[in-house]
Amino acid sequence: MPEQRFHSGFHQLGPAFFSPVQAQPLQSPVLAAFNNTLASELGLARPLDDAALLDTLAGSAVQSGATPIATVYSGHQFGVWAGQLGDGRALLLGELAGQEVQLKGAGQTPYSRMGDGRAVLRSSIREYLCSEAMHGLGIPTTRALALFASAEVVWRETAETAAVVTRVAPSFLRFGHFEHFYYRNQHETLRQLADYAIDRYFPDSRAADNCYQAMLEEVIGRTAGLIADWQAVGFCHGVMNSDNMSLLGLTLDYGPFGFLDGFDAGHICNHSDHSGRYAYGAQPEIGLWNLHCLAQALLPLLDRDAAVEALKRYQGLFEAALTERFRRKLGLRSSMNDDWRLLTNLFELMQASRTDWTIFWRQLADFDATPGASNSHLRDLFIDRAGFDRWADDYRQRLGAEGKPAGRSAAMRSVNPKYILRNHLAEVAIRQAQQGDFAEIHRLQALLARPFDEQPEHHAYAGTPPDWAGSLSVSCSS
Ligand code: AMP
Ligand code: MG
Repeated sequence: MPEQRFHSGFHQLGPAFFSPVQAQPLQSPVLAAFNNTLASELGLARPLDDAALLDTLAGSAVQSGATPIATVYSGHQFGVWAGQLGDGRALLLGELAGQEVQLKGAGQTPYSRMGDGRAVLRSSIREYLCSEAMHGLGIPTTRALALFASAEVVWRETAETAAVVTRVAPSFLRFGHFEHFYYRNQHETLRQLADYAIDRYFPDSRAADNCYQAMLEEVIGRTAGLIADWQAVGFCHGVMNSDNMSLLGLTLDYGPFGFLDGFDAGHICNHSDHSGRYAYGAQPEIGLWNLHCLAQALLPLLDRDAAVEALKRYQGLFEAALTERFRRKLGLRSSMNDDWRLLTNLFELMQASRTDWTIFWRQLADFDATPGASNSHLRDLFIDRAGFDRWADDYRQRLGAEGKPAGRSAAMRSVNPKYILRNHLAEVAIRQAQQGDFAEIHRLQALLARPFDEQPEHHAYAGTPPDWAGSLSVSCSS
């Protein structure tokens, strides 16, 4: 492994920000999945023929000349200050083509607390597939380069096996990195971190009167946009703790996430989330809550009133982003005042019928706007048929106000995916992988890379969950 491939800006920051660590190699790791597309974006030529590279990406080989690091952060978990956390089972190898390469599950670090530093195969498959599914959906996310499985046993509620996900992002900086130094009263270190983030990731902010305020505003805008993306596609993160919030506005730390099947605004995907703090419908508000944590942490660098004003703009930014997403989902070229009433009525009907979120939006592209058309392909998704008919009338009129633009259906199919990573699809891949067969992971990876394409040969993957999926439960344990 030529070590000059790996450089890392974070390494330059100095020891206050991280601890050097060595990976603890998995027992006989097996390459379960690999992302060739991402590898070529990172400039890796013929990576699968490069045994030394694969060993490094698995955490099995120590690179000469470079030291992996675990970074320190803190955070608010479920609304409560949790103090120091940090990369307890992730280590940063360095950068390839300006992207940080991190191993998740590569062993203990000084921040592991009581944990074993491992990740189980089950949750590693979910992270691997969902990062790439989100990328396919056009939603900002960390990426997954490789997945390594091992027979090594780790204990969660029961015995499971360990895995490593090699993940990639321009930066894995979290809100919690800033909280860490703020709550330790290390304001100069905080400033150093903020300067690093600005220079590397928010260079335009430098020109502002207060560059830290400009960065905060940029993060507020990105977070609003990200959560609008999540709401539009029906993605529930599940653990929106401030240490899982990316400074760059990426979807980060895939744990007990889930996509909506039948629409339920109160859907809680994480079975450990007893109060529903991170329910689907709560995500936008939680985004703001977390931004308050970030702003609080940056206060030594900010003017308090300006920071408060910036936070007040979140709601408007989020609503504008959401309106834009739903305008496109509805196949409308322009926004009109009454569009939110149209949407609210639709959500009420969907909530009452638990209408499948993905299937409804996908099929809306085939809405027949001819007066009297039955639109049974949509109507049958609702219990309240008369209610649907009234909504369809309103929608027909709304479409009529735009004339008959060519390409509306195609435009709708380009924003309303046919394929999402439903829990039961991941579960099939997990069960097969636990038997040593990784083919389903590869199939899903290819399918979800093109979620807007019809892919008729994979039609079965676009259906509602089978009955057995009702018993699936996803918790924080990973
Ligand atoms: P998460 O719930 O995965 O976002 O993790 C919250 C914190 O717990 C982070 O500091 C993780 O690094 C740490 N953590 C989670 N699982 C483990 C584990 N198995 N071993 C060590 N640290 C862990
Ligand atoms: Mg985390």
